[in-house]
Amino acid sequence: MRLSRFFLPILKENPREAEIVSHRLMLRAGMIRQQGAGSFSWLPLGKRVLDKVCQIIREEQNRAGAQEILMPTIQSADLWIESGRYNDYGKEMLRIRDRQDRAMLYGPTNEEMVTDIFRAYVKSYKDLPLNLYHIQWKFRDEVRPRFGVMRSREFLMKDAYSFDLDYEGAKAAYNRMFVAYLRTFTRMGLNAIPMRADTGPIGGDLSHEFIILASTGESAVFCDRAFLDLPVPPADIDFTSDAEIGGVVARWTAPYAATDEMHDEAAWEKVPEEKRLAARGIEVGHIFHFGTKYSTPMKATVTGPDGQEHFVSMGSYGIGPSRLTAAIIEASHDENGIIWPESVAPFEIALVNMKAGDSDCDRVCEEIYAGLQAAGREVLYDDTDQRAGAKFATADLIGLPWQVIVGPRGVAAGEVELKNRATGERQTVPVSAIAERFGVNR
Ligand code: ATP
Ligand code: MG
Repeated sequence: MRLSRFFLPILKENPREAEIVSHRLMLRAGMIRQQGAGSFSWLPLGKRVLDKVCQIIREEQNRAGAQEILMPTIQSADLWIESGRYNDYGKEMLRIRDRQDRAMLYGPTNEEMVTDIFRAYVKSYKDLPLNLYHIQWKFRDEVRPRFGVMRSREFLMKDAYSFDLDYEGAKAAYNRMFVAYLRTFTRMGLNAIPMRADTGPIGGDLSHEFIILASTGESAVFCDRAFLDLPVPPADIDFTSDAEIGGVVARWTAPYAATDEMHDEAAWEKVPEEKRLAARGIEVGHIFHFGTKYSTPMKATVTGPDGQEHFVSMGSYGIGPSRLTAAIIEASHDENGIIWPESVAPFEIALVNMKAGDSDCDRVCEEIYAGLQAAGREVLYDDTDQRAGAKFATADLIGLPWQVIVGPRGVAAGEVELKNRATGERQTVPVSAIAERFGVNR
């Protein structure tokens, strides 16, 4: 992509409304535009990141055996009346009437709808386990939307729902999602720590929030530093082995970790002092076993091996890709801008032409650009007539992992500069080394 053709509305000034660094940088880098309270458009740079975040989530959900569907955003109130939640949900739910005066709502979550899909088709335990997920916009009329896409009213969510014959099956399904989450966040360069969350009237210990440590986080969290060194399972972990998956969960739930709501001073005291990490955190995911809470009122049953009807045991598993995009920036930036992990970077390489219009610089840039494009690399080629200083500032602000800098002096010597955005390390290399470094076939 040529920057001269790319819609990248960079802001020079720090937007006054932005209180936290991710919100500030997302606005400055032209990733998002606020449309109303807690409502944002995703501009091309932001959309590219959001898509990559979703793609990682999707790959890990699929790997763990979940299947993608897509349910509507607008739901009928009838299903929610059936489950008993229509009145309970309160003001966070946006309630709408259609022209027939039917009660509708903009979905804040999809337990009812997915249970309705399930009960329409699945009748036997032989069709279990089943886990269906979608990535869809949600609306919650939050009391206090703030921090940009971190807490907005309209936001993207991946929500998965598992269906099993009994508690044992549901627990195995829960564990698979637990492990999928560990892999998902790690692939985005994040250290997400699973923390025991409140299970309310459901009870039990199958509810975890996945929390990223960041000083701007909304919750106070307490955990053992041991989490920082725990290995995350590789891509070839066997999701069909309940024992293997359960073992990972056991290791990841052994050290102490809790948000302030669940904090237990007595247990905390037992963590050796030098291992205690009291910090702030951002919730990026939440997994929850709720058993037959919806299957009972909505009569979602299957015939078991005993020939009897059983209410299916369910769980739900949420991740907020829009919040995650901001959380990644909270975890990875410096005073000059964003530092994207390669896995979610909107482009891999910024190709900076320091002197657009100079025939040698243009020629070398075009050659490098064509080679990288042909090799399938994602390049943002700054071919604009801005000053070099402004170009460097833009490249640092939007945070692509690599910068290839082409200037007249270097070109005369057959050289360009390769800069690593994360480390700041710069290397002068022959033009041909760029092709080699990024796998271009000549
Ligand atoms: P919170 O406590 O932050 O309000 P929640 O417990 O209401 O979150 P869930 O219902 O578990 O969240 O939703 C699953 C995921 O969706 C959350 O982990 C978060 O990543 C994301 N999410 C929830 N609310 C918002 C929001 N208002 N804006 C952006 N993302 C959100
Ligand atoms: Mg909430």
